[in-house]
Amino acid sequence: MSTQEETQLTLPIDIKNDPEYNTHIKFMKEALNMAEEAYQEDEVPVGCVFVHNGEILCRGRNKTNETKNGTTHAELVAIDTILTNENISQRKYTPDVFKNSDLYVTVEPCIMCASALRQIGLEGVGRPDGRSPPVPITVGGYCHDEAIYMLRKFYVKENVNAPNPKKKANRILKTNDLVLEDSQD
Ligand SMILES: [Zn+2]
Repeated sequence: MSTQEETQLTLPIDIKNDPEYNTHIKFMKEALNMAEEAYQEDEVPVGCVFVHNGEILCRGRNKTNETKNGTTHAELVAIDTILTNENISQRKYTPDVFKNSDLYVTVEPCIMCASALRQIGLEGVGRPDGRSPPVPITVGGYCHDEAIYMLRKFYVKENVNAPNPKKKANRILKTNDLVLEDSQD
């Protein structure tokens, strides 16, 4: 696992000088909207969008509770909306569409999703942190604090889907260390 393809990493340094900054923020916010939708449905709030030729190809959000299927992560849900039998048989899309797409996701892809992303040939992944990439090219740092905020607000509320829900009334949503672009409630 030390091939050259997985070592290229752009750290979230000086991202405001990135000429594509506004584009990355725009699509990361779309991914955050999907995470918010998951949050509203009491799912772990993870969302993503795939972008192809500057436009959103597909969206996904975590659905593991809704589907009772632990593999329905945001990335796989989004991929499945494109790789349907109908789309493929009508040649609307081929799996190659992902080779020229970028993924914006609110949380670092897990090993399962990273493996799927590799298999569909995805080249670019933007995500809010700058840790070692499980995927070929990773750009981190965009909407970092918004993504953390999303996870924190989920983990302070009761998980109604847990086998033994724990009372979390005493937990406080900490935000004073975050810089959020829009005021959130
Ligand atoms: Zn995953």
